[in-house]
Amino acid sequence: MERARLGDGTRAVRAGLPEPLPHEPTLPGPVFAAHYHLPGEPTGPYTYGRDENPTWTHLERAIGELEAPGEQVETVTFASGMAAISAVLFSQLTTGDVVVMPADGYQALPLVHQQLKAYGIEVRTAPTGGDAQLAVLEGARLLWIETPSNPGLDVCDVRRLVAAAHEGGALVAVDNTLATPLGQRPLELGADFSVASDTKGMTGHGDILLGHVTCRDAGLAASVRRWRKIVGAIPGPMEAWLAHRSLATLHLRVDRQCANALALAEALAGRDDVTGLRYPGLPGDPSHKVAAGQMRRFGSVVSFVLPDRARAERFLAGLRLVDDATSFGGVRSTAERRGRWGGDAVPEGFIRFSVGAEDADDLVADVVRALDEAARHEG
Ligand code: PLP
Repeated sequence: MERARLGDGTRAVRAGLPEPLPHEPTLPGPVFAAHYHLPGEPTGPYTYGRDENPTWTHLERAIGELEAPGEQVETVTFASGMAAISAVLFSQLTTGDVVVMPADGYQALPLVHQQLKAYGIEVRTAPTGGDAQLAVLEGARLLWIETPSNPGLDVCDVRRLVAAAHEGGALVAVDNTLATPLGQRPLELGADFSVASDTKGMTGHGDILLGHVTCRDAGLAASVRRWRKIVGAIPGPMEAWLAHRSLATLHLRVDRQCANALALAEALAGRDDVTGLRYPGLPGDPSHKVAAGQMRRFGSVVSFVLPDRARAERFLAGLRLVDDATSFGGVRSTAERRGRWGGDAVPEGFIRFSVGAEDADDLVADVVRALDEAARHEG
């Protein structure tokens, strides 16, 4: 059966599994090895534990099958999303290069900008919405896209940006953390690198940090792999194995969480204490049209603004089924007042809500009750 034609669920449950061998487990357990038996010439596949590990190999194949079904791609796993992001940026850029970054991306990116600038790399930023990065592409070596953006949930047209970047000779990397490969496949949209924090929806249980980079071009993959060897930001075998195990339920989790996110967004849409509601899957959302042209599922994050900080804090404290915690993409709903970190340009009452896999009715009822109580307290 042609693998590329399988449904997402069928592909996810089998992704990256080795050929069945009698008396062997379906998914071999984690291999804990700092070194491997290596007589004679030091040839691979497994020589030293910082370079390769069979548990990574299985996970990397699995992620590759989800990122680009039926295609030959290479994936490199990392200890965290930031390790994956840094690997692409620092392996591709050198002194004198120009990189175009999102002005509204993940809040650790400004730290990365500082480091890039310290190495003599010019960093230009522009917002994600309205494809504003197009205007500053001239002469760039690399375009970095984050769509949907975290936490503002703006969306840019990946195909359009890729066409312009490639025309000018720039490579394109997409941070696909929020969407996961079941929501969006950056390589199919033309990007050179699909990058993600697998700490979020990919692993989905809020218990491990991990990241990956997938590319079609073997040379680009080799340069990213080389960077991992240099910096040593390698995933632990246990984390890699847990991640692979989690991928088997990716389609179940993503489908459920996306459906719940839409139900929550719809419930919030009618309230007069909620402004700035964003969810790319909501037909009235400013991002919906572009998102629908490139996304297959719209993600588990909903953002909105409550009148002020005190109202937002009362709301969060009043939730019973939702933990006040950062991160997103997990099976248990979490929410936070994003302004508490100080890194994002958001109002004091801005809430980033990560929708879990609870029953939608229970979740919506909890949110509505907590909002009502937070509003009543005012009077
Ligand atoms: N990219 C995005 C969009 C994120 O939201 C995050 C973390 O929140 C990261 C990258 C960094 O990932 P990690 O925390 O796994 O290093």
